[in-house]
Amino acid sequence: MEIKFWGVRGSLPAPGASTVRYGGNTSCVSIELDGDKILVFDAGTGIREMGKALGERNADLYILLSHNHWDHIQGYPFFLPLFKDSWNIHAFEIRQGKVMLCSLTEQMDTPNFPSSACLPRQYECRIDDNPMIYLKSKGFNISRIATNHPGGGFAYRVEHNGRSVVYMTDNELEPPSKKTTGFDEFTRFCKNADILIHDSQYLENDMPLKHGWGHSLVSQACKLASAAEVKHLVLFHHDPDRTDGELDVIQDNARAWFKKNGDNIQCTVAFEGLTINI
Ligand SMILES: [Zn+2]
Ligand SMILES: [Zn+2]
Repeated sequence: MEIKFWGVRGSLPAPGASTVRYGGNTSCVSIELDGDKILVFDAGTGIREMGKALGERNADLYILLSHNHWDHIQGYPFFLPLFKDSWNIHAFEIRQGKVMLCSLTEQMDTPNFPSSACLPRQYECRIDDNPMIYLKSKGFNISRIATNHPGGGFAYRVEHNGRSVVYMTDNELEPPSKKTTGFDEFTRFCKNADILIHDSQYLENDMPLKHGWGHSLVSQACKLASAAEVKHLVLFHHDPDRTDGELDVIQDNARAWFKKNGDNIQCTVAFEGLTINI
């Protein structure tokens, strides 16, 4: 599996001099399997660069959302493969609250977007109660678990050739309100994963103001990685105000914490362009 990070920021894009190294685009991660199938997790603004990099290939793209918030769908209208015939695109809506239409395409309706001027070709957009069943029929081994986030959402675990990746963003491990999923359940879901990509938007000094906003502390993501004994934690969904220098410190501190805790866990702060092969 080749895992690539195209957008690592949370909440909204954060371009500028202070974010140039880690990047300002919002959530988008691709996982390429066997060279002919690409899973795309979230369609934040990072998906635009991904679309340009993909070029023309006769392959299948499967787009799965963690949830429908803007920072996870907003790059989609600018995703070049939508306008090319060589790609077979399968997009999956997740039901969230009252939302019944596909959030990916709903944003392209007039008056939100000049879709009449540049209508993309038809493609498959499924609104399934459980897209996992459809993906299983296509040969994928993917499971999901509900996250603790306002409005709900899902995290995913992909297994392939004995390797595993968990994509778990917009998840508050210790929310002030009733949990949809508890820490022990998340630990079981992530157990022994090769890669855990986890929301780490906040630090202790962001609290108590942002407690309940649906995101985890860096320290909580580290504790989950430790409890689940994953091999590599990738800290993800950075706060838009977090500077490159601050993210360097976060990485140093997280690595020091694992060392002190006696964990043999690799830790990386996600940046645009990060590529991991497992
Ligand atoms: Zn988000
Ligand atoms: Zn969200």
